[in-house]
Amino acid sequence: MLRQGLRRKPALGGWPQGIRLFEILIMTETMKTIIEKIDINADFASHPAVLKAAEVLRSGELVAFPTETVYGLGGNALLADSARRIYAAKGRPSDNPLIVHVAELAQVSEFAELNERAVRVLERFAPGPITVVLPKKPCIPKEVTGGLETVAVRIPSHPVAQAMLKAAAIPVAAPSANISGKPSPTDGAHVAHDLNGRIAMIIDCGASGVGLESTVLDLTVEPAVILRPGAVTLEDLQEILPDVVLGGTKTLSGAEAPKAPGMKYRHYAPSGKVEIYDEAELIAAYQAAADPEIVILGSSSVLEACQPKYGFELAFDACDVVTAANRLFAGLRYCDEIGAKRIMAQSFAAEGLGVAYMNRLNKAAVE
Ligand code: AMP
Ligand code: MG
Repeated sequence: MLRQGLRRKPALGGWPQGIRLFEILIMTETMKTIIEKIDINADFASHPAVLKAAEVLRSGELVAFPTETVYGLGGNALLADSARRIYAAKGRPSDNPLIVHVAELAQVSEFAELNERAVRVLERFAPGPITVVLPKKPCIPKEVTGGLETVAVRIPSHPVAQAMLKAAAIPVAAPSANISGKPSPTDGAHVAHDLNGRIAMIIDCGASGVGLESTVLDLTVEPAVILRPGAVTLEDLQEILPDVVLGGTKTLSGAEAPKAPGMKYRHYAPSGKVEIYDEAELIAAYQAAADPEIVILGSSSVLEACQPKYGFELAFDACDVVTAANRLFAGLRYCDEIGAKRIMAQSFAAEGLGVAYMNRLNKAAVE
């Protein structure tokens, strides 16, 4: 049950923090974006759109592409200018580092200092939704890493991402393909909404996989620290690194020094105010508020109980965190589409994938 809301103009958001004037000037320039839809059953390795995307990336221009987590906005990770284009297209603060993507483990040592722990983690979980932070080699410009001496590395498993990275044969820097601060894109249509006219090309392959961004694991420290929770969970990583810890996942205020640079920024936030409740609390709070303009992001059971005017079905029930993770960002985007002012969103148990779900939902609720 997905209720359609009133078609109102979404409220205008402010500029994301930290954008400089020259970035705004670049952002206002528009270009013709090639949008290529690829059927998920196609032969990707020889697909003209995949080969075109690889060529565009090698030339230094930007391509948005599907991954098994969310859509990425790729640029040539060996070129400072491509990194600048990424920050400008997203309106992303340039001290928030980018993740560098390659097709296979053998390529990682070309641009990062691999260590024994990294090899064990990547052999177990890559290709897949894991990112490891390692010391960088000089070929990666500081523009890619937000000035850091470390680089975040990921090997995505999505077959289109794999085919494109293989054909490009370069490391590709790629943050999520959304306007900075807004929910990450989990569908090609979300990417086009945010970036059409700002980048050279979009590969639209429908829905992405997990729906939340990769787990970020810092392997430059001992013990290893999870900087951002994702689909590779604490429990999964403990199998390989028994002393790994979950650290620093709260949103910091401007003055605090972040361990993971992206953490000081507000993320994933729709324009409306997000309140978080468990299933029973949400039903009680909605009924007590008696305001039909409130939007509910909740499981089918909550929507059945509340019968709201505006609701987005996140999951079947309170145990179904896999579907909730997959649909959370689409739900947050739905809120902006209908101009929601007050949003009641359902919490899920913070264990396994629920840790990542709650991490994103809590950031969406930061004011
Ligand atoms: P996104 O590209 O939007 O998925 O965000 C990538 C996140 O990865 C950033 O917000 C950082 O928190 C993290 N990250 C990337 N590179 C590094 C690095 N060198 N050190 C620590 N964290 C990093
Ligand atoms: Mg992002």
